[in-house]
Amino acid sequence: MDARSAALVRANFRTVVEAPHGPERLISAFYGHLFAEVPALRELFPSAMDMQPKRLVTAVQFVLDNLEDWDRAQRFLEQLARDHRKYGVEAAHYDIAGRALLAAFRSYNGVGNWSRQLEAGWQDITILISASMAIGANSDTSQPYWEATVVGHRRVVDDLAIVRLQSDTPIPYQAGQYVPVAIPQRPKMWRYLSPAIPANQYGEIEFHVRKVRTGWVSPAIINETKVGDRWMIASPLGGLHVDLQSRRDVLMISSGTGIAPIRAQLIEMGRRGINPRVHLFMGGRYPCDLYDVENMWQLSQSNPWLTVIPVCENETNPWWHPYPPADPPFGMHRRLIGNLGAVVASFGAWADRQIQIAGSARMIADTRRALLAVGTPESAINSDPV
Ligand SMILES: Cc1cc2nc3c(=O)[nH]c(=O)nc-3n(C[C@H](O)[C@H](O)[C@H](O)COP(=O)(O)OP(=O)(O)OC[C@H]3O[C@@H](n4cnc5c(N)ncnc54)[C@H](O)[C@@H]3O)c2cc1C
Repeated sequence: MDARSAALVRANFRTVVEAPHGPERLISAFYGHLFAEVPALRELFPSAMDMQPKRLVTAVQFVLDNLEDWDRAQRFLEQLARDHRKYGVEAAHYDIAGRALLAAFRSYNGVGNWSRQLEAGWQDITILISASMAIGANSDTSQPYWEATVVGHRRVVDDLAIVRLQSDTPIPYQAGQYVPVAIPQRPKMWRYLSPAIPANQYGEIEFHVRKVRTGWVSPAIINETKVGDRWMIASPLGGLHVDLQSRRDVLMISSGTGIAPIRAQLIEMGRRGINPRVHLFMGGRYPCDLYDVENMWQLSQSNPWLTVIPVCENETNPWWHPYPPADPPFGMHRRLIGNLGAVVASFGAWADRQIQIAGSARMIADTRRALLAVGTPESAINSDPV
């Protein structure tokens, strides 16, 4: 695609993104064309599709931003298509979807704003997208998802549950990765969760789930999940890991259920024996948010390379919590009070460390900012996309 066409479609896409309800109108036209051509495709999507405009815009924007680095865009699209196998989307569907996307841009712009040049530009882009996604879908012949049975559901605080499952066959994830999960109460509404234990040959898997009050899926996991429920778990993603080759010590920073991918790695490291030094700052708003601190403390007792430092924004539990905070175990680092990022950064730049941050999008951004401000090299900081 030449530079002129690229500039034209980028400018046209900007008008969609910036228009009030532009993404919603575009996606509604896209699904209209898609389901008109093949009505059966509607079955593949969840009943609530409120996240779809944001996802479509993010994906198209990524492609447009990387037209000059097509390998990167292609890798992204192939990964997206591999991930979409969990919905039952097949390679053959991408040709239809590409045509529907072109038709959506045409109807969104309307006859008055549509030109031969725009038609040609968007046609090139939609063909590139659909061809790359078809390649991605065909490139993975492994099963698109695994099934697992809930064998335990424990509410550790009012809005947080630990769910244990037994998968029919072991799921090949690495400690530190996350997996897309769908539950029977909210079919096809896939959400990412991070296993809190390493994969094992028995197919045991554990998730720590916090309720997002306005959410679709997490409240159902906290309030409605029962032993015996069958969950679907799709291919693992993400690459949080400790690089043993680099021989650099490790700084891990987690908040809330962000402990899950960190914990899985620490348990795995405990099995290995020889490890770099690890400092784990375990944060939460209230002492009750540090629901797993005892386990991490126990782990550190038998693993001298691990130091656990609890950090809370508040000294006491919230008024609705039934118990006052328990004292940290005798001998454990005392609980530090303050903003997690500020507390970690108050110790210095940790410039010689490999650093992992896991938690909510806001906590990751705040902590990253606090570290960068004291001179931590950006390249040392790792976190999952949020
Ligand atoms: C890589 C990765 C790993 C994750 N691992 C875990 C995990 O191990 N445990 C876990 O509990 N969650 C984890 N999550 C979050 C999880 O995937 C869901 O986003 C979360 O459970 C909310 O889903 P929902 O369906 O309840 O909310 P949705 O229906 O998806 O969202 C409803 C509304 O809430 C907003 N929202 C979504 N999440 C939050 C949030 N955290 N804080 C405030 N507002 C929010 C949305 O923007 C939307 O407006 C992870 C997310 C990512 C990206």
